[in-house]
Amino acid sequence: MNPAVQTSEDARRFGAEQVEHVDRMNPAVQTPEDYLAATSLVEALTALRAGASVCVLAGGTDLMPQLHAGRSKPARLLLNIRRVPGLDAIGIEADSLRIGALTTIAQLLVDPLLRTQAPLLAEAADHFASDQIRNAATLGGNVCNASPAGDMLTPLLALDAQVELAFLGGDGSARTRRLALDGFFTGPGSTQRKPHELLTALLVPLAPTGQVARFFKSGSRPALDISTISIAFSARRDAGGLLHGVRLALGAVAPTPLRARRTEALLEGKALDAALAAQAAASAAEEAKPIDDVRASAWYRRELLRNMTRRMLEDVART
Ligand SMILES: Cc1cc2nc3c(=O)[nH]c(=O)nc-3n(C[C@H](O)[C@H](O)[C@H](O)COP(=O)(O)OP(=O)(O)OC[C@H]3O[C@@H](n4cnc5c(N)ncnc54)[C@H](O)[C@@H]3O)c2cc1C
Repeated sequence: MNPAVQTSEDARRFGAEQVEHVDRMNPAVQTPEDYLAATSLVEALTALRAGASVCVLAGGTDLMPQLHAGRSKPARLLLNIRRVPGLDAIGIEADSLRIGALTTIAQLLVDPLLRTQAPLLAEAADHFASDQIRNAATLGGNVCNASPAGDMLTPLLALDAQVELAFLGGDGSARTRRLALDGFFTGPGSTQRKPHELLTALLVPLAPTGQVARFFKSGSRPALDISTISIAFSARRDAGGLLHGVRLALGAVAPTPLRARRTEALLEGKALDAALAAQAAASAAEEAKPIDDVRASAWYRRELLRNMTRRMLEDVART
């Protein structure tokens, strides 16, 4: 993206040069007709009123490869939201941690508030891509891209996250609605976000006393590969060692990231030991609906899930 292009007027001036450049690189790549780098939330939401003919650009680490591979059709308007102020902030709001949609994966790794209140997210960020990608990739982009293998999605599900979506009200001001992340994903690449809405934040309940949480990602190279499977576990352990509010989220083993609800119920109110860990691991493997693809067979994914869930829960039991 040409950094000098910030408004649609700039885009008109720079567009010909850009298209010519892209066309030389790959004649199959089509570019959007127009470009806008919004500098306020209302400006972005006003542009989004045109709905499906607008495509939001955050870090571009999913969008650009998809456009270049011809897997996404270019929208009429490419809406860059990186200059919208406040969308990259992390702070406390009531009893939740509020993480702006433009927070990068690199920020998640170092933010002190996040490391105390949602360390599971920092742990998952540590298994995410390379430094170059982490500096550009945003949490909101990971959620809106809605890949079943998105690495931040299982920890967010395990932490009972909510999504905040903004849209333009009839009076021209920004309005918001909130939804549980559980149920937000409707299929590979699709969510409950409406075309005129912008994801503005993720909200995660502050860490309860006694929280235990774990993240596991398997890929042929731990941080530089798309997950073959991922698992995120979270619960509160009381003074007697019993687990409460158990959450077990699974990635890359179904069309959307999913919560293993029967396994959660099996663990709820119990003290973990090796026998229960093995039983829960078998249950999680049954709840998964993996497919064969280029990265792994369904059989391999299920076996990996069973083994890694057992190991993860045994580790929780030991600590
Ligand atoms: C080399 C490489 C390695 C990668 N490794 C990993 C990895 O290890 N783990 C992993 O999970 N992913 C990985 N990815 C995928 C990608 O980096 C992440 O999914 C990233 O979080 C996407 O964020 P982004 O800001 O770049 O999104 P973008 O590409 O800008 O957008 C992604 C999609 O979300 C929409 N969107 C973005 N923000 C918003 C918003 N606020 N509101 C509404 N819609 C929005 C866009 O329109 C687009 O459809 C990798 C990608 C590359 C190229």
